[in-house]
Amino acid sequence: MTIEDKSVVAVNYQLHVKDEENGIERLKDKSKPGDPLVFMFGMGGMIKGFEDNLLGKKQGDKVDFWIAPADGYGEYYDDDIAEIPLDIFKDKSGKVDTNWLKPGAVIPMQNNEGHSLRGTVKEVKGDTVLMDFNHELAGKDLHFTVEVVGVRASTIEEIAHGHAHGWEGGHHHH
Ligand SMILES: [Zn+2]
Repeated sequence: MTIEDKSVVAVNYQLHVKDEENGIERLKDKSKPGDPLVFMFGMGGMIKGFEDNLLGKKQGDKVDFWIAPADGYGEYYDDDIAEIPLDIFKDKSGKVDTNWLKPGAVIPMQNNEGHSLRGTVKEVKGDTVLMDFNHELAGKDLHFTVEVVGVRASTIEEIAHGHAHGWEGGHHHH
């Protein structure tokens, strides 16, 4: 069968992005050998450009494509960089763990509305921390190479739950 809405799809994939300085493509993410990514198609769990390129494909198909930021992880917004008071990173004794809070560290946080988001530490300066709340892959062109290793219909239970239950599609309770 071919991939359509609500198909359960198994893929091996590699994601490369270009290095900002020299334009060389580097491996960013990949599925583990023998452990393909399994997902229910068309449920919004995957980025749009990824699904657009897999629609209608079948087991054994190999696809190689680029995704622009708008169909990937979004554009990069300078406004999503913020200075956060150092105080909120202090532990009960008023200390900051500099092994943890350092440039490049990704820290789960909450915004004013209580939504969780991840911030990347850019710089610790005096009593503030400069953090970037853009997705790590925002603003980047994504180069995927994908091999479709399986396509099957979803089970009634999977459709009710709105997600795949692994490749085997077994029963479970939430
Ligand atoms: Zn479920």
